[in-house]
Amino acid sequence: MRTEDDLYNELQRLNGKSYKAYKDIQGRYQFADFTLLIDHVQGDPFAAPSRLRVQISQAVAGFPKSLYATPSRAIALRDYLHRVFAKQARMMQTTRGSGKSGLIGIAPIGQQIIERSSVWVSAEQVEVRFVVGLPAQGRRILGRQAAALLCEDLPDIVDAALRFESLKPKAMQRQVEVAEDADWLRQQLSERGLVSFVPNGAILPRQSGVNDAPLKDAAQPFQSPPELEVSFDRPNQGTISGMGIPEGITLIVGGGYHGKSTLLRAIALGIYNHIPGDGREQVVTRPDAVKIRAEDGRSVAGVDISPFINHLPQGRSTTDFSTENASGSTSQAASIVEALEAGASALLVDEDTSATNFMIRDRRMQALIAKDHEPITPFIDKIRQLYADYGVSTVLVMGGSGDYFDVADTVIAMTDYQPTAVTEQAKAIAAEYATHRKAEGGESFAPLAQRFPLPTQDSFQERDRRPPKLKVREVDELVLGRESVDLSALEQLVEVSQVRAIGAAITTLQPQFDGNHTLSDRITALQDKLDTTDLDILTDYPQGDLAMFRRIDLAAALNRMRSLQVKV
Ligand code: ADP
Ligand code: MG
Repeated sequence: MRTEDDLYNELQRLNGKSYKAYKDIQGRYQFADFTLLIDHVQGDPFAAPSRLRVQISQAVAGFPKSLYATPSRAIALRDYLHRVFAKQARMMQTTRGSGKSGLIGIAPIGQQIIERSSVWVSAEQVEVRFVVGLPAQGRRILGRQAAALLCEDLPDIVDAALRFESLKPKAMQRQVEVAEDADWLRQQLSERGLVSFVPNGAILPRQSGVNDAPLKDAAQPFQSPPELEVSFDRPNQGTISGMGIPEGITLIVGGGYHGKSTLLRAIALGIYNHIPGDGREQVVTRPDAVKIRAEDGRSVAGVDISPFINHLPQGRSTTDFSTENASGSTSQAASIVEALEAGASALLVDEDTSATNFMIRDRRMQALIAKDHEPITPFIDKIRQLYADYGVSTVLVMGGSGDYFDVADTVIAMTDYQPTAVTEQAKAIAAEYATHRKAEGGESFAPLAQRFPLPTQDSFQERDRRPPKLKVREVDELVLGRESVDLSALEQLVEVSQVRAIGAAITTLQPQFDGNHTLSDRITALQDKLDTTDLDILTDYPQGDLAMFRRIDLAAALNRMRSLQVKV
């Protein structure tokens, strides 16, 4: 095998040559402490940076087995190493002051601990995948810089980020224990009849709408009302108490700006583990809870929205409803039915992002507009059936209408960012001021239809065998070939790498669409494969910017593709 010295000399030789000649360095190099793999070299200085890997044996890396003995711990350790590697690479960047040419980078991540393809840890070795902008001046190779970058800076980063003895053992221990406890808590939820758990002392508000770090000084720590308090005895960190949100229908009420949406958002992200110090690191939610919102303008393909919408103008079908341009209410109805199809066990709904006419229709409006002129059966008339027929719970933020008091099992009021349990009062008020609404929902929710995706028109399988090019820059947009898919309504996607993985998953699923298999079956098959293997099955060579996603979010992305066509 070629050595570090070979790479060094090769880069000196390439100095001043045309950028294309960088391709020569592709391959594997033995360094003193690790192996460097140059998997993919960029074609020009402005293309996506080159993809590299470092493999360092455990004999050198030295991580004790206890830090990665369980899947929870391994994912948490990998996340930790990702963060240290990112920090070391950033520090190196500041001291060198180079731009994109000369950059060493690893996939961008946020506050969540997620299984990713960036860092792998086994009993044999640690592997890190990253990108390098190979240095150039104009279109000429800066070979001496490249040699310094790969043969001096990189070993320093590896030494500081991937060896147990360079790292902080207490912080690592804490990270794996906190994450393992969170996974354990999440597993306890259904046994305890809970949808979510928010511990006392949790910090829920964030610094800003664009900064997901915890709000510092002004933040009011969370404190459960006594009526809803539950306790758990965690495997690592002992007893923890906090608010348990029971299954069934939970209403979060309260004045504007008193912290309702902040609580719901923390619940929605409780499907993920968070790093220690985040404030939400022991907030946990059922893994299949889905945030639902109105999303006018989205496309819908063959969804049975008839539980919510009937008798559309011009006799349009609502059992097999398709549109290129949904309204607020039809989009929200479609998203709920799609979530059920994908296996959601809880819905999270915020009035701020809901269509009013989907949520409520009060007595006076019922009197003025007869039911046969109103296609919408509001959510209030279906919310109980969802629970009775399918066991699907709802957590609903609703400060604007007391009509929901009648259908709620639990009512939580947020006042000055603190919750109180007000179920009794709400029920007493509901009895005193009857709404005299007529129930519109019928007897049951409706059976769930299955959808059979059809071969994508103009699909790549006929044109040529190459899958469509995947482009992902932000967490809210997926570009596949010529199609751009708007994911901004999928609030539980948090990382660009998740979107990239979803895109890769879609390119493997699409060629299988033949009209004979249901969407759920196809997604389940892929999920099973992912569960027994790893993210690398999604790409043809090892890539470092994939992150695990839920089948629910994969389905949600597919459902938003304008090219999706189904048979029902
Ligand atoms: P609501 O949905 O009730 O109108 P929000 O949840 O949007 O209110 O919160 C309003 C503001 O209060 C936000 O800026 C949020 O960051 C802040 N906030 C929420 N919870 C807390 C808290 N526990 N401590 C301090 N500030 C908070
Ligand atoms: Mg709000």
